[in-house]
Amino acid sequence: MLVDSHAHLELEDFDEDRQQVMTRAREAGVDLIITVGINLADCRRAIEIAEMYDPVYAAIGIHPHDVKEISQGTYDALVELARRDKVVAYGEIGLDFFRNYAPREMQIRRFGEQLEFAQSLDLPVIIHDRQAHKETIDMLRGWKGRKRGVVHCFSGDYNLARQCLDLGFYISIPGTVTYPKAEEIRDVVKRVPLSSLLVETDAPFLAPQSHRGKRNEPAYVVHAAEKIAELKGVSLQEVEAATTGNARDVFALH
Ligand SMILES: [Zn+2]
Ligand SMILES: [Zn+2]
Repeated sequence: MLVDSHAHLELEDFDEDRQQVMTRAREAGVDLIITVGINLADCRRAIEIAEMYDPVYAAIGIHPHDVKEISQGTYDALVELARRDKVVAYGEIGLDFFRNYAPREMQIRRFGEQLEFAQSLDLPVIIHDRQAHKETIDMLRGWKGRKRGVVHCFSGDYNLARQCLDLGFYISIPGTVTYPKAEEIRDVVKRVPLSSLLVETDAPFLAPQSHRGKRNEPAYVVHAAEKIAELKGVSLQEVEAATTGNARDVFALH
């Protein structure tokens, strides 16, 4: 059994065949999927999908790409959404200095604000960090949240991973660990203990090497798990048990 700790099943990429995607996930042994809304409309949709399919849980929050849309009304709406049973995390929130869809200062301000907001909701956080490692770790260091969470689609080196672990965060490994050039992330996987790792697809994005260039889906999370097993010299079952236990722990799914 596996947990895909980060997917975007609410996106229209899945509108044509969401049921088949869910069936393939189950057949691949994926029995929990966290679907992540990136703006208010998608958060509503993510919760709908979670309420439609038993294995799916939802995370709500405003992605760094979309922080320009935030107003007080956004937070009022999110407070309401957070009450729904299948909402288990706040995010993805963080910094994206690769695309820079919002000015950096605004991203930093909204990230800090959303960390506090997550704390007020008593939810664990899902962190997005793209080419903003130093600023992200600085923000997390200053945050007093009790629930902590997961740094998704981890893209730093071992030094950054160590700092995340020291702050009490889990690290989530995407299918990109299978890419030929992904030596840095493979080094991280080798050195970070299994007790701190989750796996994810980030579907429909970032398909693993064997499906590269096509739409990604939760069934393919097994490719990340297999690569971790290979790198650590342990069985796939061991990786499945550890990452599933970690996901259940961070999202309080028991
Ligand atoms: Zn992300
Ligand atoms: Zn995402």
